[in-house]
Amino acid sequence: MSTEVDVVIIGAGAAGLAAAIELQSTNLKFLVLEARNRIGGRVCTDEDTFTHAKVDLGASWIHYYGPENVLYDYYVSFNCDKKQSRHSGYRICFDYDGECFSSKTKCHAQNICEKLYQHIELFKCKNKNKEDQSIEQVIQTEYERLVPDGPIKRLVNLMLSGDEQYEGSNFENLSAKYYGLENDSSCDKWVSCGYGNLLKFIIKKHNLSIQLNTFVTHINTIDSDRIAIKTSNDSSIVYCRRVIITIPLGCLKRETILFEPPLPDWKRNAIDQMGMGLMNKLIVQFSTSFWDCDMCSFLHACNKQRGRFRFTICSHAPENILILFVTGNFARELESLTDSEILEEIMKFLRQIFPTESISEPIKYNFTRWGQDTLAYGSYSNIAVHACPDTIKRLAKETSDGRVHWAGEHANVNCGTEDWALGCVHSAFQSGQRAAKAIRSQLCSS
Ligand SMILES: Cc1cc2nc3c(=O)[nH]c(=O)nc-3n(C[C@H](O)[C@H](O)[C@H](O)COP(=O)(O)OP(=O)(O)OC[C@H]3O[C@@H](n4cnc5c(N)ncnc54)[C@H](O)[C@@H]3O)c2cc1C
Repeated sequence: MSTEVDVVIIGAGAAGLAAAIELQSTNLKFLVLEARNRIGGRVCTDEDTFTHAKVDLGASWIHYYGPENVLYDYYVSFNCDKKQSRHSGYRICFDYDGECFSSKTKCHAQNICEKLYQHIELFKCKNKNKEDQSIEQVIQTEYERLVPDGPIKRLVNLMLSGDEQYEGSNFENLSAKYYGLENDSSCDKWVSCGYGNLLKFIIKKHNLSIQLNTFVTHINTIDSDRIAIKTSNDSSIVYCRRVIITIPLGCLKRETILFEPPLPDWKRNAIDQMGMGLMNKLIVQFSTSFWDCDMCSFLHACNKQRGRFRFTICSHAPENILILFVTGNFARELESLTDSEILEEIMKFLRQIFPTESISEPIKYNFTRWGQDTLAYGSYSNIAVHACPDTIKRLAKETSDGRVHWAGEHANVNCGTEDWALGCVHSAFQSGQRAAKAIRSQLCSS
């Protein structure tokens, strides 16, 4: 048994869906193969676990929100209640023992952080043609000189760990040379009814059909006329003229798909060089809230060590949900624990922050483990030490004489322009559009 189409798209996350939408405007016959039993990939809304609440397990904000964002028109026509965005800066910050930081302390900590970032900028200017270093290495001496022990240090750590969360990685792994390339997320839109539902809306709007539960195992490009794609479903082979690979960078690193012939060295090196981060959400629902719902939707809480349970989103009654974000080494450490062990850590932390409240056990919880998810192996990509914009270009570059195309949040090549973005849903979407357009110009003009 075999199937023959013009194009196969592997993966039905944002990149795969965008590629499919783009190909709909052609007369090319295409197929979208998705290993999961659902669409969306790292965009996934949990509608079942929690009472009265839809909670995103992956993406929840449209970054760089505005008319130029490829998802803007969809969001505007999506019938989502337009609740306020949940970003509120460092308005409410607790120390690890529940003490609220004064504005003076916050101001002091912010000034120190600015100096540390200025130091990174200085390094970038002075070392354009020199070896890269990690952010940790670059700021270390200044950090030791500027940051006094005690509350200021915990607050500075809290602020720095915000940026680590944004990258999904600790500073020791991130490139100082290219830090800040895609960092301006000043305009974010929280998709209150679930980012996963926005993607479902897009699929419905375009009437896309996706072949679910189909894990691609092999891509064979030895025959110059047609590409053979094997899946784990059965012995059938799908033949096509072009393929778009949108599987996550984490899967490419683990070589979950076998290529025959193997990928060229320049592509393999780019895959190895780029960083794949890890950020998880620990979502807990209580019967009543023990936090002040009127004051905020964001609580930032310090811990004695940088990045441990750094901040929390809380939702108002009747949901009474807290979402704790964990990143990098700490996220990896927690993934190795059982749910009840994680819960114990969370409760210990919350009881420290709210020492005067009697906090009962949560009624529901869900903890993501994106690092162990075999169809993601991480949360989103970042520019690791020794990676650079050219790494991303190579990740996006076609292979096998222009027949194998690459897309995904890690392979968006609009570097250097205003809309440069990496690691986001819209960057994945843009990359899918780009790959499909390239195929259209290859196949439709001939
Ligand atoms: C916790 C978390 C929070 C995030 N927050 C945000 C946010 O607020 N805003 C934002 O913009 N971004 C956020 N992101 C990042 C965003 O979710 C991703 O960048 C984006 O969804 C990636 O889309 P993609 O199409 O490149 O990959 P994916 O969505 O991962 O799609 C790839 C698809 O390929 C499938 N696949 C893998 N291997 C195979 C195979 N062998 N055969 C067939 N199919 C396969 C996978 O199942 C998956 O569906 C977050 C991510 C995480 C994990």
